Order: sequence, then structure tokens, then C-alpha cells
Amino acid sequence: MRLSQYFLPILKETPKEAEIVSHRLMLRAGMIRQQSAGIYSFLPLGKRVLDKVCRIVREEQDRSGALEILMPTIQSADLWRESGRYDDYGKEMLRLNDRHDRDLLYGPTNEEMVTDIFRSYVRSYKDLPLNLYHIQWKFRDEVRPRFGVMRGREFLMKDAYSFDIDQQSARTAYNRMFVAYLRTFQRCGLQAIPMRADTGPIGGDLSHEFIVLASTGESEVFCHRDYLGLQVPGEDIDFHDETQLQDIVTAWTTPYAATDEMHDETAWNAVPDDEKLAARGIEVGHIFYFGTKYSEPMGATVTGPDGRQMPVHMGSYGIGPSRLIAAIIEASHDEAGIVWPKSVAPFDVGIVNMKPGDADCDAACDKLYAECVAAGLDPLLDDEDTRAGAKFATMDLIGLPVQVIVGPRGAKAGEAELKFRATGDRETLPLGDVVRRLS
Ligand code: ATP
Ligand code: MG
Ligand code: MG
Ligand code: MG
Repeated sequence: MRLSQYFLPILKETPKEAEIVSHRLMLRAGMIRQQSAGIYSFLPLGKRVLDKVCRIVREEQDRSGALEILMPTIQSADLWRESGRYDDYGKEMLRLNDRHDRDLLYGPTNEEMVTDIFRSYVRSYKDLPLNLYHIQWKFRDEVRPRFGVMRGREFLMKDAYSFDIDQQSARTAYNRMFVAYLRTFQRCGLQAIPMRADTGPIGGDLSHEFIVLASTGESEVFCHRDYLGLQVPGEDIDFHDETQLQDIVTAWTTPYAATDEMHDETAWNAVPDDEKLAARGIEVGHIFYFGTKYSEPMGATVTGPDGRQMPVHMGSYGIGPSRLIAAIIEASHDEAGIVWPKSVAPFDVGIVNMKPGDADCDAACDKLYAECVAAGLDPLLDDEDTRAGAKFATMDLIGLPVQVIVGPRGAKAGEAELKFRATGDRETLPLGDVVRRLS
């Protein structure tokens, strides 16, 4: 992509309404635009990051054996009357009427709808286990939408739903998602700690929130320092190996870790003071096992091995990709702007033409651009005729992992300067070696 052909509405002023750094930087870098309270458009740079995050989420869901579907945003109130949640959910639910005066709602979550899909087709225990997920917009009329996409009203969620014959296999389904989540957050460049959590309006009795520690987080959390050194399973993890899954989950749930609602002072006091992390955190994911809470009232049953009908055991598993972007920025930025982890960076490399119109600069930049593309890298070429200071400030703000700076003198001598965004390290290299250094 050439900057001259791109839409990157950088803001020079720091937006006053933004209270936390991720919100400020997302606005300044032209990633998002607020349309009304808690409702955002994703502009081209933001959309690229969102797509990268969703791709990681999707790959790890698929790897764990979950199957992608796509359910609508608008749901019928009747389904929610079956589970009893239409009245229980309260003001966070956006309720609508169509022209026939039928009650509809904009889905805040999809337990009822996916249970309806399940009960319409699945008849036998032999068709289990099953895990269906989608990545779809949700609406929750939050009391206090704030911090940009961190707490939006309309936000993207990956929600998965597992169906199993009994509690024990449902536990394995839970473990699969637990491990998939560890991998997902690590691939997004985040350290997310699973903490014992309250089940809230979803119901049920087994639940973990995945928390990214950050001073701007809205949750108060308590955990053991040991989590910071735990190993995340590699991509060779076997999702069919129940023992291996359970061992990982045991390792990741043994040291103390709890959110405010589940905090247990006695257990906490047993942790030595210098091993305690009492901090604030951002909830980036949340997993639940809730047994037959929806399958029973909604009649989602299968025939068991003994020929009897039984309600399926279910779990649900959410990640907020839009909130994840904000969490990544909270965890990775400096005074100059965002510092993207490679895996979610909107472009792999920024090529800075210091003097567009200069024949050597233009030729060197075009060649580098073509070589990047040929090597499978996604470059953003700044080919605009602007001041050097503005060019560097923009590149630092949008946080691409590497910048390749091409000035007239260097271009003539056949050299470019590399600047690594995270460390600030610089290297001068022959033009012909640049792309090899990047890939
Ligand atoms: P919170 O405690 O922050 O209100 P929640 O517990 O209500 O979140 P869940 O129902 O567990 O959220 O939804 C699953 C995931 O969806 C959350 O872990 C989070 O990543 C994301 N999410 C929830 N609410 C929002 C929101 N208002 N804006 C952006 N992402 C959200
Ligand atoms: Mg909430
Ligand atoms: Mg919560
Ligand atoms: Mg939650």
C-alpha cells in the first residue's frame, strides 16, 4: 500500500474525550471513529488489525476442533422467553419491534440461538462432542460505555458453544477452549492469566476469565507471580489427548488467581507477600461450563448409549477481538505511539521515502516495495511529500514493527536505514540486503 493512495486520517491533537492511552492512540492513528456513544467505525488501519486478530482467534478455534458458523445479530425474543432470560437480562439488552410488532432483540450473546440450532438437528450422543463458534457483532447497552472499543456498546465477539453428553466430556471441551485461549492471547503478543471468575447472568459453576494485567483495567484481580513464567502450549498440542489437556489446565489453575468477585482472603493470605500480584486487569476472554441450564428448558436432548433422552451439557466461550486490540495497545506502546507485536501489525514494514520526486529515492523505494511483496511481506510505503519530522512521527504513531528509511544520500550510495520500532535500534544496510533482513 502507498500512503498517497491510502486513507489514514491521523489526528495531530490529542483527543480530549479519550481517557486511556489505547483510546487516544487508536483515535490519533486513524484506526476508529466514534459514531455515537460506544459505537465505532473501524477505518482502514483499524480494520487491518481487527482482521489479523480475528484470523488468529479463528485459527486457534479451528485447531481445537470448533466449527465456524455465522448467526445473525437480530434474534427473536421468543427464544429468550424459553430460557427465561428475556425478562432477566435487563436494560443491557437492546429490544426492537418489527413492522408486525414482533419482539426482537440485538443479540448480547447467543446461548439460546445456538441451542435452538442444536436441538433442531442433533439427535444422538454419537454426534457429540460438538463445538460451534462464530465471530459476530454484539450489542450491550452498557451503563458506561467508555475507553473506546475497550467498552463499546456494539462490539465484536467470538463466542463458541460446546455440546457434550455428560459433565466429564464437557470438562474436556472446557479444557480444549482453555488451551486454545492461552495460545490465542500469546499469539496476539499478550500475557493473559486465567482467573477463577463469577458466572454472572450466563449461570453455571465453572468459569475462568482471561485477564491482561494493566493499570487501566476495570477489574481488580489477585494472582500469584508464578503465572508470569508459565509456558504456553505450542502448536503441536494434541486436542484429542485429554490427559495432556488436563495437565496443562492444572498447571495453569494451580497458583492462586481470582477476580474480585471470587477472591478468597484466606487462600490469598497463604501466598507469600513478595509473590503476590494485586493489580488491575482487562477481561479479554471468559469461558463457562453451565451444564444443562439452557438445554433443559429449551429441550436440547440427545439419545444416550442406553437409549434414554438426556439434556446436553453445554459451555460457552467468549473473546472480544475489538477489546483485544485496545488491550494490546495498553500493553505495548511508548510516548511516540503504538508498538504492534508482529502478529497483529497492520503492515509488516513501513518504507519511508524521504524525498519523493528524487529519482534515486523513488527507484530504491519502488524496488524495496516490490521485493517485500515478493517475499510475502505487506509494506506501507510513505511516498508523500511531507516534512521528515511528520513522516517519522506518523510511522512511530502507527507502530509498524520495522521502518526502512531511504534518503537521497543513502539511495545514491545504495543503502537504507532500518529502524526497529520496539527497541529503537537502527542499522544501515545495502539496499539489496534489506528484505532478507526483514523476512
Ligand atoms: P465486562 O465484565 O467487561 O462487562 P462481560 O463479563 O460482560 O465483560 P462476557 O459476557 O464474559 O463479558 O463476554 C465475553 C467477552 O466479550 C469479554 O471477555 C470481553 O472480551 C468481550 N466484551 C464484553 N463486553 C464488552 C464490551 N462492552 N466491549 C468490548 N468487548 C466486550
Ligand atoms: Mg459486561
Ligand atoms: Mg466480566
Ligand atoms: Mg465475562
